[in-house]
Amino acid sequence: MTSRSNRNTATSELQRRVGEIDDRVFDVVVIGAGPAGAITSLHLADAGLDVLMVDRDRFPREKVCGDCLLFDTMESLRRAGLYDEVTRRAHQLPRATIYSPRRYHFDVPGIYWTIRRRTFDAVLAFGAARRGAHFAEADICDVAVSSDGVVALSITGSDRVIGCRLAIVATGAQVRLAGKTGLVVREEPSAVAVRKYIKSSHRIENMILSYDRSLIPGYAWIIPMGDDQYNVGCGCYYRDGESYGGLKRVLATFLEEFPEGRLLVEKSESSSRLGGAALRCGLSGSHPVHQSRHLLATGETVGATFPFTGEGIGKAMETGELAAQAAIEALKSGDFSLLDRYPERLKAELRPKYRGYFFAEKWLSRPWLNDFVSWRIQSSPLLQSRFKDFVSDTGDPRKVFAVTTVLRSFFQ
Ligand SMILES: Cc1cc2nc3c(=O)[nH]c(=O)nc-3n(C[C@H](O)[C@H](O)[C@H](O)COP(=O)(O)OP(=O)(O)OC[C@H]3O[C@@H](n4cnc5c(N)ncnc54)[C@H](O)[C@@H]3O)c2cc1C
Repeated sequence: MTSRSNRNTATSELQRRVGEIDDRVFDVVVIGAGPAGAITSLHLADAGLDVLMVDRDRFPREKVCGDCLLFDTMESLRRAGLYDEVTRRAHQLPRATIYSPRRYHFDVPGIYWTIRRRTFDAVLAFGAARRGAHFAEADICDVAVSSDGVVALSITGSDRVIGCRLAIVATGAQVRLAGKTGLVVREEPSAVAVRKYIKSSHRIENMILSYDRSLIPGYAWIIPMGDDQYNVGCGCYYRDGESYGGLKRVLATFLEEFPEGRLLVEKSESSSRLGGAALRCGLSGSHPVHQSRHLLATGETVGATFPFTGEGIGKAMETGELAAQAAIEALKSGDFSLLDRYPERLKAELRPKYRGYFFAEKWLSRPWLNDFVSWRIQSSPLLQSRFKDFVSDTGDPRKVFAVTTVLRSFFQ
């Protein structure tokens, strides 16, 4: 096990061509350098393991996202020692304003950070590389585990094969590789979403989420990014035949009909192309540990993203931490059966939260109930504080979306 420190290396040199990587059997290869893969690699490198992180894209790279960081992301950044570096580059919002289908609305105060994923993911991936993880550009197209427990990774367009004792698949919602290995058993996404950037002189301070009738239980958003830039988008559950074209029309209608959206467009100076991407939610459709016990999956690949809110950056990072913990235990002891603790910990730590979000979704996916709850929250400090806990992932959604809580709100 070796670790290399790259603290003084220039960013452009931190991600190398795969041909420049030494030919040896790594302790771990992490496939995918998004938030899940980068955080996994960083903690593995900190533990002194010989880790190679690969991504098919050259970093910094774009990732279609709402670019909003919630509480769990910030906590994971603190644990990784990257909080200051991210917040130095991010924009801070004082509150979110949530609109129901009939436009009842209420504010959720808090601290919300926004940062383009191009920047955020680069801070994480290069952060892992600076802590000693090797970082290379490679599109992994196949994985084979030999009887002696060495994993061989094939690379698109290259004869080179990378060897390791453990491979961790963190390829997000792109699950062709994980599907091939049996780590993923349901390849279709849970949800789809689109976003674009608008530069506009119209000023919006808050993050806006709107449960439009055409999208519910999905929603549309306007997220201020600072410097007159706004991330606008919408997402909904995936149904057979769902297309990004359909969502493009929904977003255009939202921006025409929603007053703040209309003003934003009227005063816009430029806008980017629309991008679309899939989401995998609710910790379902995957086996996080391969039967060989030499392959793991983490992040959105295992469906880490929250159902209903679509918030997945923090969850990808948290599952990455759990994957790293299990990998360190297995590799340091030589007992790979310890990897079985990983799915148990995923279930114990995250499953109750996902259940809560499914519960919230049941309430808010009915437009009339969504209107009613929003109308109540407008005038109830009790519901406002419970909703704030729900959004910041510090409270149980079942405490907001319960008949008894709503009834109590009439008497407080
Ligand atoms: C429109 C939209 C808006 C969203 N908004 C938010 C938000 O505001 N806040 C939030 O918390 N979450 C949001 N999400 C969810 C969030 O984007 C994901 O949950 C998060 O990116 C998952 O991280 P990950 O590391 O698992 O995967 P990813 O970030 O997708 O990273 C996977 C990486 O794997 C690489 N890769 C894929 N296949 C291969 C291969 N074969 N070989 C090598 N590399 C490979 C990719 O290039 C990529 O870099 C949004 C999602 C969408 C689609």
